[in-house]
Amino acid sequence: MADDLAELLHELIVATRILANQNVLDAFGHVSVRHPRDAQRYFISRHQAPELAEVADLVELNLDSEPVRPTEFRLYSERVIHGEIYKARPDVNAVCHHHSHAVLPFCISGQQLVPVFHLPAVIGQVPFWDQRDEFGDTNMLVVKPEEGASLARALGANWMVLMRRHGATVAGTSLRELTFRTVFGCENAALQSAAMAHGHVDSLSPGEIELSSTHSVRPPSTNRAWDYWVRRVEKARLMPSKVQAKRSATTAKRSKAKAAKSTKAKRRHWS
Ligand code: MN
Repeated sequence: MADDLAELLHELIVATRILANQNVLDAFGHVSVRHPRDAQRYFISRHQAPELAEVADLVELNLDSEPVRPTEFRLYSERVIHGEIYKARPDVNAVCHHHSHAVLPFCISGQQLVPVFHLPAVIGQVPFWDQRDEFGDTNMLVVKPEEGASLARALGANWMVLMRRHGATVAGTSLRELTFRTVFGCENAALQSAAMAHGHVDSLSPGEIELSSTHSVRPPSTNRAWDYWVRRVEKARLMPSKVQAKRSATTAKRSKAKAAKSTKAKRRHWS
């Protein structure tokens, strides 16, 4: 495995731990990243609570959400959410689907979720998808490719979509941008609900959303937030190990030395 791919897969696990540690993901929900050298593939954990995932649990799927290589792993039934969004949106490289309790009141009431302070401007316009419109009564899960494609159409050119009585799906051009948007999307939802108890709440203006989101998706902002959330993951003792379980002894030894070196470099960067 090339080092840059190994680094990306490690980052996928770190993003997942951050989102679990920030109470976005619980036993359910998932995060994926597009293959950096093959736009027709993506990586996602096998079926399990996302916080438990390690790099060895990742599977490589095509955009029909089928494994590229035979696997014994059970897969997430809702993985089509990811594959269908990657098909519809070549600019999207990372996707998170979650059932955060912060956004659920909006999914239940149909109240419009809008950016109510500067950092969540990155959620932009948030469409609302009702699975019943095309599919009638279902078990509420997005399991058929056509259901995933319908959700991707509802997302359109936006970055976050609410799903009636279910949760939300968020997209990003990178894992760090996705993590930023997902965390602040949930914080915005919690604050909008709280502010609505005080009275009328409206959105940032379209101009403010454009200017503020353009500022926030720049690496200085997404990296600063990422480093803070990584520190919280470290404090919670949830940081994944970089050593690969399935490698040969020699490769593992070499990569362990490299990981130690890179962790040292990262610590310098993070402090
Ligand atoms: Mn779901």
